[in-house]
Amino acid sequence: MKKKLLIASMFATMSLFAQNTQCVSTTKKGDRCLLTVNANDLCWRHNPEYKKATTVIATICTSNAKSGSSCRVKTKHSSGVCHHHRN
Ligand SMILES: [Zn+2]
Ligand SMILES: [Zn+2]
Repeated sequence: MKKKLLIASMFATMSLFAQNTQCVSTTKKGDRCLLTVNANDLCWRHNPEYKKATTVIATICTSNAKSGSSCRVKTKHSSGVCHHHRN
């Protein structure tokens, strides 16, 4: 009886962590991915959209300043133009 109660309490403790659900994807070996995610979603390793968001590299603004010299402000905007020249 005591063992059963112990197991039940363990499950109760585990359910507290259920707010962070497990990644729905599997690893290359076929095992369930152990990474946790906020929603019923894919983790950073399996979500291609998440990857895109993190691999944005800052580029130097492609717009030219009024003086003629190129703008050197770094931007992560997809247009490649900094916030000064985007308007
Ligand atoms: Zn995953
Ligand atoms: Zn600029």
